[in-house]
Amino acid sequence: MDEYGNSGEGRATRRDEAVRAAVEQGLLGPDSPIVGLLDVTGIRESAAELRAAFAEVTAPGTPVLHAFAVKATPLVPVLRLLREEGIGAEVASPGELALARAAGLSPDRTVLDSPAKTPAELREALALGIAVNADNPQELDRIDGLVRSAVSRSPLGIRVNPQVGGGSIGATSTATATSKFGVALRDEGAREWVVRAYLDRPWLSRLHAHTGSQGIPLSLMAQGVAETYALAEEINRRIGRPQIDTIDIGGGLPVNFASDATAPTYAEYARALREAVPGLFDGRYGLVTEFGRSLLAKHGTIVARVEYAKSAGGRSVAVTHAGVQVATRTVYVPGSWPLRITAYDGKGRPKSGPEVVQDVAGPACFAGDLLAEGRALPLLDQGDYAAALDTGAYYFAHHYAYNSLARPGVYGFVPDRATGVRFATVRDPQTLASIVAESGGAHAGALTTLHTPGSR
Ligand SMILES: *Cc1c(COP(=O)(O)O)cnc(C)c1O
Repeated sequence: MDEYGNSGEGRATRRDEAVRAAVEQGLLGPDSPIVGLLDVTGIRESAAELRAAFAEVTAPGTPVLHAFAVKATPLVPVLRLLREEGIGAEVASPGELALARAAGLSPDRTVLDSPAKTPAELREALALGIAVNADNPQELDRIDGLVRSAVSRSPLGIRVNPQVGGGSIGATSTATATSKFGVALRDEGAREWVVRAYLDRPWLSRLHAHTGSQGIPLSLMAQGVAETYALAEEINRRIGRPQIDTIDIGGGLPVNFASDATAPTYAEYARALREAVPGLFDGRYGLVTEFGRSLLAKHGTIVARVEYAKSAGGRSVAVTHAGVQVATRTVYVPGSWPLRITAYDGKGRPKSGPEVVQDVAGPACFAGDLLAEGRALPLLDQGDYAAALDTGAYYFAHHYAYNSLARPGVYGFVPDRATGVRFATVRDPQTLASIVAESGGAHAGALTTLHTPGSR
């Protein structure tokens, strides 16, 4: 354990207190049976750990921008909190850019990546001065046109796929031979094309790779960074000057979903990178990072009320309000995305008692809607609460509208001397009126009044 308490004990204590206080203060109850909770203290600690980890390995004065991958937790107050902690934003759609701007992120702290940028998106990014990494030759053509027609302060680069291979989860492996992202560096002629692209464009100053997310071992991530660095060195050597001045190493640090401990840590990753690629840290290159999951995952908790406790075929089943709508990956691909579940009683106190193998089910109308199948937990009873841990990234912030289930409210919390825990609303629970509006409510008659002329 280090000064940041990476065993996660403090985090577990804060979480238990928050669940109890959420019940006590009425955020959770029969009429609001599901919430997302965010541990503000934990988020600040992770941001500080990230900054410290790279400060430790880089030469003094090296510019480092940590750009949070907005897709991990696309919530404006979270982006604002991270901004206050010195973290920028990596965006990959007009929506994410709008969130970053709403949070007050400045263009010079924002990076635009995405495999499908439209001409309008590119024009806006260059007009604002946001850094852009071109995904492919066709996109670079579009950028050429924009650079010719107007001056821009945007730092511009190319994303490459070092094709170093995948990890244990196919869907989050971005450096396979056939990944859709970036210029596939080992394909015939690709490396030479990239070098030429820089030789022909003195304004290309960055190089970007993101080797993958959850499931990628540190050694493979380091290899992806090493290949990217070697390419930057080759390009600068061929050009005869340090035209590439910044390397964007992407994000992807895996998260430990098995316990409260933070593992691996940013410090471990930064040291592994310095060992594998010492030249990257000697001060000749500025750095951009794009961590998402590792900054937020462990600071989020979904808490859901057990509406009914039943038994089927000898199996105990707790029917809760958290399922596929808030834990989509876990429900559809449980083998790759298992979540820890903790049991709380009706007052929000940790439940004890003998463990019983049970299913923790969600509210959606299909049999596979299970947060956990055959999990040993103190027996969940009607009116208890089940919490899905480590869900601060890619879970409750990513609502999936199956069964028109409402987006739950999201609340940030901090310990508080007077009340035990103080909450702030991050996102209001979705109203039924909003569900109707988002489901074409304003166009109720649209189809009945649409008929072939002359047919009626
Ligand atoms: C998703 C993504 C990230 C963040 O990945 P995490 O695993 O959440 O750290 C960073 N960069 C790019 C380009 C991405 O697509």
